[in-house]
Amino acid sequence: MRIWLDGALRDSTSAQVSVLDHGLTVGDGVFETLKTVDGRPFAMTRHLRRLATSARGLGLPEPDAEEVRRACAAVTEANPMPLGRLRITYTGGLSPLGSDRGTTGPTLVVAMGEATRRPDSTSVITVPWTRNERGALSGLKSTSYAENVIALARARQQAATEALFSNTKGALCEGTGSNVFVVLDGELHTPPLDSGCLAGITRALVAEWTGARETELPMDVLDRADEIFLTSSMRDVQAVHRVDGRDLPATPGPVTAKAMRVFEERSAAEPDA
Ligand code: PLP
Repeated sequence: MRIWLDGALRDSTSAQVSVLDHGLTVGDGVFETLKTVDGRPFAMTRHLRRLATSARGLGLPEPDAEEVRRACAAVTEANPMPLGRLRITYTGGLSPLGSDRGTTGPTLVVAMGEATRRPDSTSVITVPWTRNERGALSGLKSTSYAENVIALARARQQAATEALFSNTKGALCEGTGSNVFVVLDGELHTPPLDSGCLAGITRALVAEWTGARETELPMDVLDRADEIFLTSSMRDVQAVHRVDGRDLPATPGPVTAKAMRVFEERSAAEPDA
């Protein structure tokens, strides 16, 4: 696999980042994951904008959008595949022990992997840990992801593929790597950004294209929702057929099926939506 590191394409097995990179030692970095279809990235401009927002949030120098675009294009071209996962990682860079951050400037890595189409529906669980909607990392796509790794491992133990968090107020927030939508009395809702969820790009597009409402939702909405679905760059719109062992009536329900259809059609027609 060919990846981008420090201004050039390199072989992924020999490309090297310092063991003292601040991203490795303290998780001081930000990232983006986006889908490529036949070599074309989806919603690249939005991902670049969010990368810059996350970098600003961590106090990292703003990434050079043109360089990141060039790197993504080079990696995509070097690794042809029908459905790909492009990963942009941008960290604080080499930081000798005891120093704050980056004596050499940030590290930019763009890597790619083959992706498979996700099943149309999945099983999720809720976890007892909370997202801190007032925390310094709230809403930033930072590489400090261990909390999500722990929650996802718990989901896997229960034959689920995603774990949902509440925030500190007990309101529904998001999944480890996805946003969540619920249908109540035929109306589509998703938690607002001040719930502490990431400003998901798929979430924003689905909300815009379906007219979903942003609503603060208590966690027990999951016990009563007629339909639930997840959104993310790699899942697109994925129906939930089971939550904490409760089977949902019909999967995908009519509202979810419509969101799936609308997203599939519009995203194919507007690759830089
Ligand atoms: N929430 C979290 C915590 C995520 O990590 C992600 C994506 O990885 C999402 C939501 C979904 O965001 P997007 O639709 O931009 O992929």
